[in-house]
Amino acid sequence: KNYEGKPMAKRWDHYFSHEARVRKGNRLKGAAKFLTSKPGIISLGGGLPSSEYFPFEDISIKVPAKGKFSEAETKDSGVVITAGKHDLANMKSTYDIATAFNYGQGSGSAQLLRWVTEHTEFVHSPPYQDWQCTLTIGSTSGWDMTLRLMTRPGDCILAEEYTFSAAVETALPLGIRMVSVPIDADGLIPEAMDEILTNWDVNEKGARKPHLLYTIPTGQNPTGATIPGPRRRELYKVCQKHDIFIVEDEPYFFLQMQPYTGAGAPDVPPPSSHNEFLKTLVPSFLSMDTDGRVLRMDSFSKVIAPGSRIGWLTASEQFIHKYQQYADVSTQNPSGISQLVLFKLLDEHWGHDGYLDWLIHMRMEYTKRRDVILGACEKHLPRSIVSWNPPMAGMFHWMQVDFKQHPDYPQKSIETIEEEIFLRVIDHGALVMRGSWFYASEEDAHDTLFFRATYGAARADQIEEAVRRFGEAIRDEFKLAK
Ligand code: PMP
Ligand code: PLP
Repeated sequence: KNYEGKPMAKRWDHYFSHEARVRKGNRLKGAAKFLTSKPGIISLGGGLPSSEYFPFEDISIKVPAKGKFSEAETKDSGVVITAGKHDLANMKSTYDIATAFNYGQGSGSAQLLRWVTEHTEFVHSPPYQDWQCTLTIGSTSGWDMTLRLMTRPGDCILAEEYTFSAAVETALPLGIRMVSVPIDADGLIPEAMDEILTNWDVNEKGARKPHLLYTIPTGQNPTGATIPGPRRRELYKVCQKHDIFIVEDEPYFFLQMQPYTGAGAPDVPPPSSHNEFLKTLVPSFLSMDTDGRVLRMDSFSKVIAPGSRIGWLTASEQFIHKYQQYADVSTQNPSGISQLVLFKLLDEHWGHDGYLDWLIHMRMEYTKRRDVILGACEKHLPRSIVSWNPPMAGMFHWMQVDFKQHPDYPQKSIETIEEEIFLRVIDHGALVMRGSWFYASEEDAHDTLFFRATYGAARADQIEEAVRRFGEAIRDEFKLAK
């Protein structure tokens, strides 16, 4: 890491929850440090079962050769890599079954942690000295644990007015409410956020002024919006002004796609080098974080496989230490089976370069899918009722429906009209998600109606057919001529 001339992170003691403050860590795990303090020491300490009794001699996985990434190519030319039980002792690898399948630290194995730290360094180069990474068992858990570390019951926190419903569902039972920050096609509006914070009235709201922002800056779930770099800088300034801790939840960061050229126009060629690829990516909040006020959550779910249940956090050393103390008594290390498989693929087989090639492959694949759904929408949807912006990242297409043209408006509420359309779309044989399911707060008033469709899951011909059915249902609902 290059530290030269960089500031140290701010301290966050004033925001840590009671449990974060009083938790002392895991005494038994702490004893691991004595093992390295004296050469030849014999451990009768930690209750680690002997690897003799792990019923695995080796595991083999077949994965894509570098640059030959499709399913068909992998079937033909995929490479089989094997991890043995005692590869470390036999000097065959730096990681093996005996190590990975035993207990580890809450931060994850040193081997995979080093890899994600290197990746984070060259993608984001956090501009302060004492940043660190820790592995997680995915961003779902990362968010849950962050709330437990940084909030207390009764708190209000800021979020995009439409946000990932599970993030709200995690917060609510902890006694934490989300406050909707207005958004436009470019995501969070800095002036609107500043206004909410500047005019916060503790008595009226019955909660202290928000101190935490939960945001999905890239390919937002559900709106698909990506906050442009300059707006991120403005938002960061607002967060500095009001001392806001920023949680950027970025599972879709590497699903940033090629520019949308529209039907008939030639495609934009893929990035010609890794440098060019990295330059096309919108700068993260982490990359502008001189204060150490950003907690970034990365996840392998959307770029490798959700079932791996591995992600990582990047934040100041102080926050990461609190997280690790918590992980040691909660999730522990991510599954060793998962860690070993990812390590073999990412470090020993692809390396950082091969992984960037894979990410460029993902970029091109998602671009194709996005173009399919947009083409289908242009062909099959009534533009007088349904409108949209082409998503630049992620896997979601967010379609606005002009409910004011609905025959039952204004007798029926937005949510009732939404429900009727939703059920009619199902009648026609397609499923899309209701926008109201993503309200950050049901208490805040809404005057928009949206549906979310993903282009990540179905085949191209199915995407087109589903959009056609959606269009048919809308025409029926709004009594338009077919
Ligand atoms: N409970 C008890 C009583 C234990 O001794 C241990 C392991 N030392 C655990 C729980 C931890 O179990 P796990 O590895 O499934 O988290
Ligand atoms: N955060 C957001 C914004 C998501 O959309 C999702 C997945 O749907 C997750 C987190 C879940 O991530 P993970 O699989 O890493 O827990």
